Amino acid sequence: MIADNYGLKVNRGFVCHTRSNHLVKEVKLSDKDFERAIAMVNAVLDIIQKGFYPEATKYKARCVDCTYRNICV
Ligand code: SF4
Repeated sequence: MIADNYGLKVNRGFVCHTRSNHLVKEVKLSDKDFERAIAMVNAVLDIIQKGFYPEATKYKARCVDCTYRNICV
């Protein structure tokens, strides 16, 4: 959005860890990161527009603290 709205090259972002006293960390971003982000957004839009759930992850360690584990298919 920053690149589109302001016509500027974006090469970093910031993550705010709200559970760690709002610690802010800088994240470097490459063109490949933006390509992946756009692909992910398109995948999410596909799920929303077509109304199907994605498959569960094969890596069950990720499920331990997942907010959705009680409703996950
Ligand atoms: S419980 Fe969470 S992390 Fe595990 S498959 Fe479901 S959505 Fe993914």
